[in-house]
Amino acid sequence: MPDASVSESLSAARQRLTAALSAAGRAPDAARLLAVSKTKPADMLRQAYMAGQRAFGENYLQEALEKQAALSDLVGIEWHFIGALQSNKTRDVAEHFDWCHGVERAKIARRLDEQRPAGRAPLNVCLQLNVSGEASKAGVALHDLPALAETVLALPHLRLRGLMALPAPSDDDAVQRQAFRQVADALNDLQQRFPEAALDTLSMGMSGDLEAAVAEGATIVRLGTAIFGARPPHAAQA
Ligand SMILES: *Cc1c(COP(=O)(O)O)cnc(C)c1O
Repeated sequence: MPDASVSESLSAARQRLTAALSAAGRAPDAARLLAVSKTKPADMLRQAYMAGQRAFGENYLQEALEKQAALSDLVGIEWHFIGALQSNKTRDVAEHFDWCHGVERAKIARRLDEQRPAGRAPLNVCLQLNVSGEASKAGVALHDLPALAETVLALPHLRLRGLMALPAPSDDDAVQRQAFRQVADALNDLQQRFPEAALDTLSMGMSGDLEAAVAEGATIVRLGTAIFGARPPHAAQA
């Protein structure tokens, strides 16, 4: 039996997503849930899997590899790397993940491409966009985005899917939506420039701003706290 608390909060999160999609006039399957499981034990991921969840997001490589080994019996589980990605970590991401959400430099993309094992499907990639007003320096600037997209599109072992963003937290719905709108506009621009790429992903929205992200077109929302509960404070940031 799945643990009641994980399956219950997962089902509440699904209802929240469905309600947000409906409020935005979007189809019920227009966005999906990525369960962000950083700092949480493998057993909790297993419970979420038993309750039907397949996509899991992890930020810390060593921790993720241990959980992947513990959960290798779970057929169809999908691993997304959503942490900050330095050059010395690209091999593990290329070898052990299905998606990488935070690509922001051509050098990192080239390494992921070279290190993706032969015979595996291309690694799904989102480029992280630095939205204006963000305190963090993470992410590619808007004016550098088309060139980076062009580079990634030429790499055979990567499949560019779209954009990811991590705006500064805000309690103001209008501020949240303005940040997400920039990301949606940037994806729209890339879709015009590279129509053959069929870019389909906006990875944005977390436990505190899911509704604003869905209203602006998110297709993957990354929920941690809402599904697995609060994390220890020192581990709260990627
Ligand atoms: C931790 C994290 C999340 C989940 O945040 P919650 O507020 O717990 O939902 C989503 N995206 C990224 C990149 C993260 O690091």
